[in-house]
Amino acid sequence: MTRMLSGTLCAALAIGLPLVALSLSESPSISPRARELHFHSIVVDTHDDTTQRLLDPKFDLGARHSDGDVDIPRMREGGLGAIFFSIWISGTITGQPAVDRALQQINAVREQVRLHPKDLALATTADEVRRAHAAGKIAVLMGVEGGHMINSDLAVLRNFASLGVRYMTLTHSVNDEWADSSTDKPAHNGLTDFGKQVVREMNGLGVMVDISHVSDKTFYDALAVTSAPMIASHSSCRALCDAPRNMTDQMIKDLAANGGVIQINYNVGFLSQEFRNATKDNPQFGENMEAEVKKRCGEDLACQLLEIEKITREAVAQGKLPRVEWTAIIDHIDHAVKLVGADHVGLGSDFDGANMPYGMDDASHLPQITDALLKKGYSESDVEKILGGNTLRVMQQVEAIAKKMGGTQ
Ligand SMILES: [Zn+2]
Repeated sequence: MTRMLSGTLCAALAIGLPLVALSLSESPSISPRARELHFHSIVVDTHDDTTQRLLDPKFDLGARHSDGDVDIPRMREGGLGAIFFSIWISGTITGQPAVDRALQQINAVREQVRLHPKDLALATTADEVRRAHAAGKIAVLMGVEGGHMINSDLAVLRNFASLGVRYMTLTHSVNDEWADSSTDKPAHNGLTDFGKQVVREMNGLGVMVDISHVSDKTFYDALAVTSAPMIASHSSCRALCDAPRNMTDQMIKDLAANGGVIQINYNVGFLSQEFRNATKDNPQFGENMEAEVKKRCGEDLACQLLEIEKITREAVAQGKLPRVEWTAIIDHIDHAVKLVGADHVGLGSDFDGANMPYGMDDASHLPQITDALLKKGYSESDVEKILGGNTLRVMQQVEAIAKKMGGTQ
């Protein structure tokens, strides 16, 4: 989840103009070699916000939808082998209501596995992901996006872990009780003592520490405390797009030195400096966006997420915002690979929670990434690692460390 209805993250625009036809890009052709490699690899996406749609009992994940980014048919088409559904609520909701709503979403994800046993398998370890893939199923995993959902209670974290949650993002867009966010004023100077305890507990439980969204100081505090590699479940490179929740080159190097992986986020606001400048330079866009989305959706979050992307594309079509092509994803992957090598880069799309670039309109377009990386001269083994091998490696390391620490996972 990266979209917000207010603040600088918002991809915004002027409202009130007639709808215009949205021009989707033509899919580039995929070479047979890329197709072969892609569909034999385990493609892992570490961040998807489709969970909000799963809360609607009328939404059928098994049907192909004309809106949104993710459903079973399009995951199949795109060769997506493992998906981390994000358990997300706004950081402004705290206390027991935050815990309850997280549990409701965990239940909704698990329910999808029960409803679609031929297509989906719940996975909590790297081996379970591999087994699901071997059985021709999509592995379903979960990450909690925001430490506020544990209500400052390690018992809640343990319960989430026992229900299958395998990463937790230490904050979302605002500070929580024990960690600073990259998009809020510092309140804790990084992680509090309790925040450090949370990181150690996650290590013991085999829950990956996710540093997307957190402040630079929180990142370094977590890095100093963790005994396991960490991930950035959906972050891009700050050198290419100066968003505070993207990672600096030094942070990417330090994350990699500890064995971790930066999972590149496809959100145009984190890929393109030009897009970011266009939204930043006109804060009125954000306010208009907020009003229009509320008008179209009320408090329905799933609706809001889809409408923000529609409205943004309308603005692009009207020339009010720059058009960002999907190849910007490749630029960010390549930047990170040049910094730290192919062992520390992966994919964290933010599908169904962000504004996708043109040509990466939904999960069915994923083979383009494999094709583009091969065309750039990447080796097949490097591409396979970026597609998901690196994430599975980190999962396995995190599991081994938890075992050593006497955890129960
Ligand atoms: Zn997010």
